[in-house]
Amino acid sequence: MTNIYLKRGKDESLRRFHPWVFSGAIHHFEEQPAEGDLVRVLTAEGEFIAVGHWQVGSIAVRVLSFVEEPIDDAFWRRRIQVALDARRSMGVADNPQNDTFRLVHGEGDNLPGLVIDIYGATAVVQAHSVGMHVVRQQVAQALKDVMGERLQNIFYKSETTLPFKAGLGQENGFLLGGSPDDVAMENGLRFHIDWLRGQKTGFFVDQRDNRSLLERYSAGRHVLNMFCYTGGFSVYAMRGGAALVHSVDSSAKAVDLVNANVELNFPGDTRHEAFAEDAFRFLQQMEQDAYDLIVLDPPAFAKHKDALRNALKGYTRLNLRAFEKIRPGGILFTFSCSQAVSKDQFRMAVFTAAAQSGRNVRILHQLHQPADHPINIYHPEGEYLKGLVLYVE
Ligand code: SAH
Repeated sequence: MTNIYLKRGKDESLRRFHPWVFSGAIHHFEEQPAEGDLVRVLTAEGEFIAVGHWQVGSIAVRVLSFVEEPIDDAFWRRRIQVALDARRSMGVADNPQNDTFRLVHGEGDNLPGLVIDIYGATAVVQAHSVGMHVVRQQVAQALKDVMGERLQNIFYKSETTLPFKAGLGQENGFLLGGSPDDVAMENGLRFHIDWLRGQKTGFFVDQRDNRSLLERYSAGRHVLNMFCYTGGFSVYAMRGGAALVHSVDSSAKAVDLVNANVELNFPGDTRHEAFAEDAFRFLQQMEQDAYDLIVLDPPAFAKHKDALRNALKGYTRLNLRAFEKIRPGGILFTFSCSQAVSKDQFRMAVFTAAAQSGRNVRILHQLHQPADHPINIYHPEGEYLKGLVLYVE
C-alpha cells in the first residue's frame, strides 16, 4: 500500500474526521497509486492519519478508516453490520410492512462512494468511486454474510455513477441470483422497482417519510403529483383517501411506471390519471383552483455550485406557478434534492415565489431526508434533501 504525505497543516480537516482528502492537500506519494487502490495517508511529519481509496480528481482520497486496520473481509462485514443494526433501530428493517430501505448511504455510513438500497430480497449496489468498484465482490460477499437468507439477489448498477474518465466500461448486472421479481413494499404499499433501467437504484427511497406525511393530508383532496417518477406520492395520496390524483412526468416511461404502481395497489381505481408532459407547461395550462394538494419534487436543478443562481431562479419560477394556481386553503409539498442548494437558499427561493404571488403562506412542516439516509456529523455536505409543506390561504 502506498504512503501519501500531506502538505504541512493540511491534516486539520482529517483530525476532525472529515472523510475526504483533496488533491491540493497532497505533498507527494512514495509510489504513484492506481485508481481505486488503497492508500495510507500520513501527515507532513510522517504520522498515520487515515486509510482510504485513491482516485484521480479533486477528491483524491475517500477515507475508509482513521485507525490503522486491515481493510479486509472482516472490515466490510463490520461496516455493513453496523449499518444494518442502525436500520433496525430506525424501524425500517425487520418490519413486515416495509422491506424497502437504504442500507448504506456513503459517507453517512462511513463508506464513502458506496450506496446500497434493499428492495425485498434484492440489494441494489451502486459504486460512486473507483475504489468501491474494485472491491464490489468483497462488498457483495459481506452483504450476503450480514443479510443472510433474506437476501437472494444482488444487482450491481454503476454504469452511470462511476467516473466516466476512469474508462471502466462497467455494465450493470447481477452479482448474486437474478430473480425477475421486482415488487417491494414500502409502508404496506407495493411498488415495481425498475433496477434494470430506472433512475438511481430504481426508486427514490428518500421520500418515504414525506410520502407518509402527504397521506395524512390527502383525504378528499384533488392532488397533483408533479415530477411523479414511479408515483410514490400518488399511491400514498390514494390510500389517504384523495378524491382525485393526477401524476405528471415528462418521461413516458415514468408514466407507465406510475400507472403500473397504482394498478398494483388499487386495481381499476378511476381516481388516478397520469400525463406525460413538461411540468412548466402543465402548470401554465392547468385551470385555476383545479388542485388543493400539489407536490413539486423536481430533479436536482443544481448539480454543481456554478449552476446555483439559475437553479434558485428555477425553484422560484416553478413554485410561483403552483402558488398562482393552487386552490385557496391548498397544501403545497415542495422539495429540492440539490446538494448545492442549502436549506436557507431553498427557503428563500420559495419565499420569493410566495411574495410574487401575493398569497398568504404558512410553513407547516420543514422536511428532510429520512433516517436511513443519515448525515455523518463530520461531513455536513451529506445533507441534500429539503422540503417545505405550506398552507396557501
Ligand atoms: N417524486 C419522485 C421522484 C422525482 S425524480 C418520487 O417520489 O419517486 C424527478 C422526475 O422528474 C424524473 O422522473 C424526471 O423524468 C422528471 N422530470 C425532469 N424534468 C421534467 C420536466 N421538465 N417536466 C416534468 N417532469 C420532469
